[in-house]
Amino acid sequence: MQNGSKLLKKRKFNNNTLGAVNFRRGIFRGDSLSPMLFLICLLPLTTLLKKSGLDFTIHNVTISHLLCVDDLKLVKDILALTKIVKTFSNDICMQIGLDKCATVTINRGQVVRGDSIKLPPDEVIDPLPLEESYKHLGILEHGSINNIDVKKKAKMEFKKRLHQLLKSKPKADVGRLNVLRRKGGRGLKSIEDLVFKEQCALSEYLKHSTTPALKLVSKEKFVEKGMRENQTDHEDHFMKWKAKALHGKWAKLLKIVDEDSSKWLRTAHLKPPTEAFIIAVQDQALHTNWLGHYVLKTGETTDKCRRCKKFAETVMHIVSGCPMLAQGVYHERHTQVASALHWDFCGQYQLPRGQHWWEHKPEPVTKNVLWDFTMRLDRLVEARKPDILLIQKVSGSNPQKITIIDIACPWDETLAEKEEEKISKYQPLRMELERAWGGKVKVPIVVGTLGALPKTLKGYL
Ligand SMILES: [Zn+2]
Repeated sequence: MQNGSKLLKKRKFNNNTLGAVNFRRGIFRGDSLSPMLFLICLLPLTTLLKKSGLDFTIHNVTISHLLCVDDLKLVKDILALTKIVKTFSNDICMQIGLDKCATVTINRGQVVRGDSIKLPPDEVIDPLPLEESYKHLGILEHGSINNIDVKKKAKMEFKKRLHQLLKSKPKADVGRLNVLRRKGGRGLKSIEDLVFKEQCALSEYLKHSTTPALKLVSKEKFVEKGMRENQTDHEDHFMKWKAKALHGKWAKLLKIVDEDSSKWLRTAHLKPPTEAFIIAVQDQALHTNWLGHYVLKTGETTDKCRRCKKFAETVMHIVSGCPMLAQGVYHERHTQVASALHWDFCGQYQLPRGQHWWEHKPEPVTKNVLWDFTMRLDRLVEARKPDILLIQKVSGSNPQKITIIDIACPWDETLAEKEEEKISKYQPLRMELERAWGGKVKVPIVVGTLGALPKTLKGYL
């Protein structure tokens, strides 16, 4: 033990000694070995108390004390038992927090006023005031477990935390919080599930316990037969989310688009409020005029868009359908997606590029990537200025692999239609390039406004 604490005394980082830490008492927090050592040190105490013969029998179980790590409850002859504890503590140089100790006197099931205990030379343990409770293993008790107060306290704490959580506006689907991140949820553990899991584990532990007192407890059934099988899992949370009329639309969409559509939740590391905002938009939970007018009935006199005053202001309209935003923010978004992709290609083909994609200004012509470039062709082709044209040589000069990339960010539910539209729009250019340059030509690309990706995307790139 002494060697161990010497080792722990010197704090080192990168072979530099940061300084000495002097442990004077207590156990080291956050170290799983510490409580184990603490328990080993305390084991003789429980043997001493058992051997004292100062116990009493209830329901055929004989007990003198209840000990869990540093929580000790003595029953029956408290003065004699306390003296044993005191002597033992002195022997192993442990201090008892006497100011945290109290006595409770119970007479025929009723809590009555008791006396204080005097320990030599001049220490006193006072009785607990009649109206107060004490904590054993974190649970409030008096004559028995104070269920009402325990519930009241737990409720207050739960409401306080829930209130804090709900303050973060806007309100996306609550069920989605417990869906796995790779399935498009926010990956939080469900408290209900955790409590139930604990119940199952506890009842299993009690069922196989050989300690008489625990055997008695196991007769109180926490978990009914068959409940274990009904345990909710992540799939259940997803199904509940999917079943919602408005919020569930995104869940339904995720089933048909590429699974990487939710990858941003695991890899983008956005700030929690930004992430919550995007999630709320996907759930269409923004307080739009349409939602206020028809669903929430919060007094909006019109359902029309605040910018164009022409169409209904839905989330879909704001992110992809407003004519007033088309030339400004939609255009900027389109350019950003395209230049991010261009930046990525520059990396792939070892072309010069800046450190961040968001600062990238694409050159019109680089070695094998053309940016927003009008193609000169022998035949008349109307759509001949795609966002990006990628020319890859496959072993030698011919055949070539050409990819026409034209970006669209439509409302996510119309991905498939938009993709079809782009493919047919660039069909003449594709045929002309294949004829003039040879090789294979492919045409993508569509990315949903809110992040949905078509399953075909990976095949194109
Ligand atoms: Zn509008």
